[in-house]
Amino acid sequence: MWFTSGALSTFSPAIFIISGTLLLWLRRKMALLTPVSSSYLPRLYSQLAAYDAAVENKSRICLSNASSTFQRSLIYKAGLSSHLEKRESCNFKVSASVTTEVSTPEVSVKLPIVKGDTWAIHKFGGTCVGTAQRIQNVANIVMEDGSERKLVVVSAMSKVTDMMYDLIEKAQSRDDSYELALDAVYEKHKLTAVELLDGDELATFLAALSLDINNLRAMLRAIYIAGHGTESFSAFVAGHGELWSAQILSAVLRKGGIDCTWMDTRDVLIVNPAGSNQVDPDYEESEQRLDNWLLKHPSKVVVATGFIASTPQNIPTTLKRDGSDFSAAIMGALFRARQVTIWTDVDGVYSADPRKVSEAVILNTLSYQEAWEMSYFGANVLHPRTIIPVMQYDIPIIIRNIFNLSAPGTKICRAPVIEVEEKQKLITYVKGFATIDNLALVNVEGTGMAGVPGTASAIFAAVKDVGANVVMISQASSEHSVCFAVPEKEVKAVAKALEARFRQALSAGRLSQVAIIPNCSILAAVGQKMASTPGVSATLFNALAKANINVRAIAQGSSEYNITVVIKREDCVRALRAVHSRFYLSKTSIAVGIIGPGLIGATLLNQLRDQAAILKEKSNIDLRVMGIIGSKKMLLSDMGIDLSKWKELQKEKGEKADLEKFVHHVRGNHFIPNTVLVDCTSSTEVADHYHDWLHTGIHVITPNKKANSGPLDKYLKLRSLQKQSFTHYFYEATVGAGLPIMHTLRDLLQTGDKIIRIEGIFSGTLSYIFNSFVDTRSFSEVVMEAKAAGYTEPDPRDDLAGTDVARKVIILARECGLNLELSDIPVQSLVPDPLKETASVNDFMQQLPSFDSDIATKRQAAEDSGEVLRYVGVVDVKNQKGVVELRRYKKQHPFAQLSGSDNIIAFTTERYNKQPLIVRGPGAGAEVTAGGVFSDLLRLASNLGAPSC
Ligand code: ADP
Ligand code: ASP
Ligand code: MG
Repeated sequence: MWFTSGALSTFSPAIFIISGTLLLWLRRKMALLTPVSSSYLPRLYSQLAAYDAAVENKSRICLSNASSTFQRSLIYKAGLSSHLEKRESCNFKVSASVTTEVSTPEVSVKLPIVKGDTWAIHKFGGTCVGTAQRIQNVANIVMEDGSERKLVVVSAMSKVTDMMYDLIEKAQSRDDSYELALDAVYEKHKLTAVELLDGDELATFLAALSLDINNLRAMLRAIYIAGHGTESFSAFVAGHGELWSAQILSAVLRKGGIDCTWMDTRDVLIVNPAGSNQVDPDYEESEQRLDNWLLKHPSKVVVATGFIASTPQNIPTTLKRDGSDFSAAIMGALFRARQVTIWTDVDGVYSADPRKVSEAVILNTLSYQEAWEMSYFGANVLHPRTIIPVMQYDIPIIIRNIFNLSAPGTKICRAPVIEVEEKQKLITYVKGFATIDNLALVNVEGTGMAGVPGTASAIFAAVKDVGANVVMISQASSEHSVCFAVPEKEVKAVAKALEARFRQALSAGRLSQVAIIPNCSILAAVGQKMASTPGVSATLFNALAKANINVRAIAQGSSEYNITVVIKREDCVRALRAVHSRFYLSKTSIAVGIIGPGLIGATLLNQLRDQAAILKEKSNIDLRVMGIIGSKKMLLSDMGIDLSKWKELQKEKGEKADLEKFVHHVRGNHFIPNTVLVDCTSSTEVADHYHDWLHTGIHVITPNKKANSGPLDKYLKLRSLQKQSFTHYFYEATVGAGLPIMHTLRDLLQTGDKIIRIEGIFSGTLSYIFNSFVDTRSFSEVVMEAKAAGYTEPDPRDDLAGTDVARKVIILARECGLNLELSDIPVQSLVPDPLKETASVNDFMQQLPSFDSDIATKRQAAEDSGEVLRYVGVVDVKNQKGVVELRRYKKQHPFAQLSGSDNIIAFTTERYNKQPLIVRGPGAGAEVTAGGVFSDLLRLASNLGAPSC
């Protein structure tokens, strides 16, 4: 965390310790200091504390430690570099060269001729060699690689290392089922070999296997009797998986005609224990042993065991869990290989753990530093220590999927050219996200810490004394508190050590407390130049805030590769999805909730089903239906409902409808930044929620007329909220279905035109009825025909009463700024008075013919004057009135020319005065209404930033 103090602007040099490599940074220049392990941290702090005290002008202005132990930074004011360089006692050798690149310690060894870039290294993980068939597949890939020389590093067959550790566990706890478990290990390898090999190769392997198993049995027996096994015993037992898989694979290659030898890397690779479950390779010694080995084994193809090594005393050890990647990288460095290919079961390094974020994308390239940070933060596709050995010699690593050879994989190499992706530019800076769970935060607080040199050093010395690994450090600028994260299992010991160390300061009140915040996780964003690019942190924190995730601590490493936040563990996956989607998903990803999958709703779902993929592909608009709710059941999905079978899914997985839960779900899905609820009901109850939804940032789209034609005060409240916020409320389909009525009206108003009158045939049903009410036909006959054709509501009185038209009139009137209530609109009902109360639809239909004469007379009178009857709605803006009634129009008037169930709307305005602006077309029916709703969805996307195309 950066913090200011006085003359911050004057600082320029900085020191970085990068996973054991201390770097000195002088304004865009990096000087390399020799590696230190993270356990040097307390010593560094105390050196710096001494320095603080020694220099006249106290100069520490920033302490920050990005969560990877690879990268810790302490920023000092100008002048520090020379002090540090001179400080012999610091134990960090400062290299003379000042360079922009990270260089590495020279290993002065004479290179035997056989080493160099004729070698290609391949590493196959456990799943790659999990079965006989897969081992054969691996052999084929090796044979197909055209490299002159090949070193193939193999893991144990999948699960075997777990089985081996389990044997030790069982023996130590005197559980004699280890015998059976050992038999299972034997059987597994025997069967695999039998399937792949024959003749002498098979006999040789089985003999070696039996010998190993007998030795292991004896050893496990000893552990069983003692009830304890040493670490070297465990390492010896655990490494057998690799011994066997390497022997099998090399025999398979020989069977395929390849001149191949297998290497027991315990004979070559020498490592020293480095504390906290790590080992450091002894490159010099290993290189010598490798030269000797190569002299004796001049094969061009070597299969080497991953994971295992020896101590300088030749005691078998391991590179710790998942260490085969590290083995391959060390071999790459020892051989000065051309490249190291790590074969696994995924297409490469994803932008986030694909098991947690299904939206994660494959990264084509990563710099060494980026890969370093990603792996440190739990991207277990790569062992965190894999990078250092290859980086020394600029050897690229390629991560590839053995099950998908067509995928090119991820290339990890020296800072690749930043790819300019077509999507957001920020993506080029943020490469990936990763998390570490099971951490606790320790907060040491107190006013007495400010300005007291040595406090940080004392804190970390105490932490080091209990052997805890500090994952992240953050210090507030006031120096009032120092906060750091350690693994949860170590936090108790850390707290105890700190309390003991600071007992006096605590009782004197100089320190107020040592607080522990358990159940934390770290979320890291990793990417080149990220931290120095304006907007990246803002976007990250904004995404977290929108997902309602509280950030407990922050660290931003000055290396610019990492921004780290500490959050509650239960928020971790949600946070990961939220930030990932913000950087990787299209800006116009919208979570859609469909309310009312009736005729219009279901049609809309079909339209979305057919169009969603195209929109995503062509326009970068990602519409995901996260929920569908009907009156009885609802269907919820975390990633988006498969719209090709939503009805079946609703039957299978639907739950009881609960609107509150539904809204919470659709909105609560924080990996999609925007939410819209589409109300396809005609319910007043649903419409009553719009205000609250808009208030919480949920966009609303609807063909439901109830909100805009309901009580005026509610309507005005809704519209004023809409105007104040950035939340959108669209209702194009409330008038004229899919016809651009509201849109046209809004455009006219917004461009300064003055509306004089809107007059139109707004009811498709009544349009049909009057268009067909010609010649000798009776009115009731036409109504019956319309009903039979499905043009009317189930009860045709709902159409004939004119209320629906009145609602449209009021919606248009209010849009024009008239403050009218529905009751202010006089409506001429076409339902004869005596039939208004008639109980059933059938009764109504039967009695309607007896009222035909009245309307027939009106029609005839119109006809006699060369006119037709039309049922229209009128908004008279000038006189601030509206009306719904039957009117007569000359036969040449556009309203008289209609056919079928078309709507027609005429806008008479100051600009369109002599000739009104006319919109005409089908104004009813599920397809066009759903189409109107759909166009509102696209309008929303465009308002949210979708490209205009
Ligand atoms: P192997 O046995 O081949 O070494 P691992 O299981 O160690 O394979 O590593 C591969 C796994 O890492 C993948 O199956 C994937 O689930 C997981 N993983 C976690 N984070 C990432 C990431 N960011 N990119 C790719 N894979 C990841
Ligand atoms: N077989 C070892 C393990 O499972 C090493 C590896 O596969 O990377 O930990
Ligand atoms: Mg692995």
